[in-house]
Amino acid sequence: MSNFEKLQRRIAAGETILMDGGMGSEIERRGMISSTTWSGGPMLTHPELVKDIHQEYIEAGAEIIITNTFATGRDMLEVGGIEHKVAEANKLGMEAAVQARKTTGTEDSVVIAASVSTMRPKAHAEVPVPYEKALDTYREQLGELAKGGPDVVVGEMLVRISDTLAVIDAAAELELPVWVGLSLVWDGKGLYLGIQDRHGNESLQDAMDAIKDKDVAAVFIMHTPVDDTGPGLEIVSKNWAGTFGAYAHFPRSVSPSSLPDAIEPQQYLNYAKVWKESGARIIGGCCGTRPDHIRTLRDWLSGS
Ligand SMILES: [Zn+2]
Repeated sequence: MSNFEKLQRRIAAGETILMDGGMGSEIERRGMISSTTWSGGPMLTHPELVKDIHQEYIEAGAEIIITNTFATGRDMLEVGGIEHKVAEANKLGMEAAVQARKTTGTEDSVVIAASVSTMRPKAHAEVPVPYEKALDTYREQLGELAKGGPDVVVGEMLVRISDTLAVIDAAAELELPVWVGLSLVWDGKGLYLGIQDRHGNESLQDAMDAIKDKDVAAVFIMHTPVDDTGPGLEIVSKNWAGTFGAYAHFPRSVSPSSLPDAIEPQQYLNYAKVWKESGARIIGGCCGTRPDHIRTLRDWLSGS
C-alpha cells in the first residue's frame, strides 16, 4: 500500500494527521531567502538547508511534508531571471524531501506533497491568468516534480478559480492525486480568494461551487490569517463532503514584515483546536510557524 493510501485510510478512520510548518519563512529566518524569487532561488543554491528543515519537521512529528517548490515554477523563477532552471530546481526540491524522509527512516510513512504555484511576488490577484496559461505552467512544473515520485500534488496560494481548475486538470493528466490550497482574505463583508489586500470578486463560496464535482483528494485553507481560517473551514465543511484541512499563518493584525515569532505555538494551537472541531483532518502551519509549532500540535494530537 502506498503512503498516500495509508494516509487516506487513517483519515477515513477519523484520525487527524499532522502536516509540516512554514518553509519559506524558515529559510528567511536562516538568512537565505531571495528578494526576487522568495524560496525558489534558495532551492538551487541551498538544497541542504531545505533538506534540514524538512528533517526538523519530520522529527517534530509531521507526517506530511510539502516540497520547497512553491516558488520554483516558471512564473516565479522568471522574476529572478532564472526561468531556465525550472527542471533543476524542481528536481532538487523533490530530492530534498526524499532525502529527509530517508535520513529519518520514514520512507514507509511520511507523505511528500509536491507544491506547485503560478504566484508571482508582485502579481495582482485581481488580474486573472487565463486558464490555458496556468495549465501550461503547471504542466511544466508538475512534469518535473513527477519524476521524483511525489505522493500527491498540492496547488498552493490559489487565488483564482481558473488557476484552481488548471492545477486540478494538470495533476489529472499525470494521474496524480491533487490537493487544492485556497488562500483567503476577509474584506469586511465576506471571505474572498486572495492575499493581503489583493483580491478579486471570487468568493470562497464561488470556488467551492466551481470544484464541487472535481476529483480533489483534499481542500485546504492555507496561507490565510489564523482569524479567517476557522470561518473559511465552516464554509468548506458545508460545501465539501471529502477531506479538508488547514495550514494557516499569523494573525490578521500582524504585518508580514514582522514574520518571525508572529504567533506563539500555544496561540496557534488554540486556533487548531477549533479547526479540528470543524472537521479538519489534516492540520499544519504556513508562514511564521516553525518546528516548535508542529511539536506543540503533535503533543496535542497524540494526547500527551
Ligand atoms: Zn504562508
